[in-house]
Amino acid sequence: MALKNPPENIAIIGAGMAGLTCATSLQLAGPKITVFEQSFHPGGRMSVFRKQGHEFDDGLQYFTVQDERFQWTVDAWLDEGVVEIWDGWCVDLEAGNFLRREASAPRYVAIPNMSALGSHLAGLCQIEYGCRVTKIVSCEQGWILQDQFARNLGVFDRVILAIPPRVARPLIEGLSSTLEEGIAHVSMTHVWALLLSFDEPTGLLFDAAFVAQSPLDWIARNNSKPKRGVQENWVAISTPEWTERYQQYSQQEIRSLLLQAFYEAIGGIIKEPTFQELRYWDDAKTIQTLDADYLYDADKGIGLCGDWCLGTRLESAFLSGLGMANEIIDQT
Ligand SMILES: Cc1cc2nc3c(=O)[nH]c(=O)nc-3n(C[C@H](O)[C@H](O)[C@H](O)COP(=O)(O)OP(=O)(O)OC[C@H]3O[C@@H](n4cnc5c(N)ncnc54)[C@H](O)[C@@H]3O)c2cc1C
Repeated sequence: MALKNPPENIAIIGAGMAGLTCATSLQLAGPKITVFEQSFHPGGRMSVFRKQGHEFDDGLQYFTVQDERFQWTVDAWLDEGVVEIWDGWCVDLEAGNFLRREASAPRYVAIPNMSALGSHLAGLCQIEYGCRVTKIVSCEQGWILQDQFARNLGVFDRVILAIPPRVARPLIEGLSSTLEEGIAHVSMTHVWALLLSFDEPTGLLFDAAFVAQSPLDWIARNNSKPKRGVQENWVAISTPEWTERYQQYSQQEIRSLLLQAFYEAIGGIIKEPTFQELRYWDDAKTIQTLDADYLYDADKGIGLCGDWCLGTRLESAFLSGLGMANEIIDQT
């Protein structure tokens, strides 16, 4: 394989925060970037769930900033009106007893829902939707990608996989021992999101809670976030440990156990929800990180990025995508 330097044509697999950050940063350096996304919308876990007029942030709940490079970007999003600070009243909660948790940093949300941030970034990229990359083949000029219909997606000088390790592993098998060995120890876990809508206000005094001693670790009044309307909507997220333990249960059983957990957390049944939905996230949270910003096989021109490289947060995905882009730019 003879890599072109500088690269002219780069493929990025996955249009979540990591893939979109990588794409928008690389684009500034000149090469043609194509993002391939299996679903029909961008954002990945920056997601919104809509049904029967109800709307919930069913993935990413809010995000915070620690790194100044992310802060510059978030400040730009604030100026553009893509995100706002969420000043919801957040508490620590156990069996109905709660204590206010002071925010150590501003909590940001996208406007009017989390998927808007993905759409904003996607507007700056060329993306092929409904395109699940199922095969990557090495060739003289670089890499050939194939989708789920065995369609040839083109030949690329470099390929970046901005997808969870569970999905990346079969794709990189036999292509790069650097990547295969590098991610052997990385693991992620799954969670459920229970989405509840009430006809009338629940009367709960807080807007969101970190829940202790419960199958749930987070609940939030979705409509307390800016520009979410007035309908009383709650999102409840299960702990990874509970999700793992109840893996064999049916969706109906999970739904009823999590609803019961919601009531126990807030201190009793308030009102019956008029709408309920359950969402499953396969690769939700990182358990074991890569412990590096990204992984790149420079000899072969293939790399991996995603939140799981650094942690469990949106900022981890941003920094990973940015680091991956800078690595490629620095090598040219
Ligand atoms: C329920 C939940 C709550 C969360 N809450 C918070 C929070 O409060 N604060 C916080 O900071 N973070 C939170 N997170 C984590 C945050 O959402 C993630 O860190 C971040 O969105 C990950 O971005 P990513 O680009 O690494 O991955 P993803 O968003 O997973 O993007 C990967 C993309 O790749 C696509 N893809 C996968 N395989 C293929 C393929 N073969 N071909 C083409 N496309 C493919 C997927 O469809 C997806 O769009 C939460 C996550 C979940 C699930």
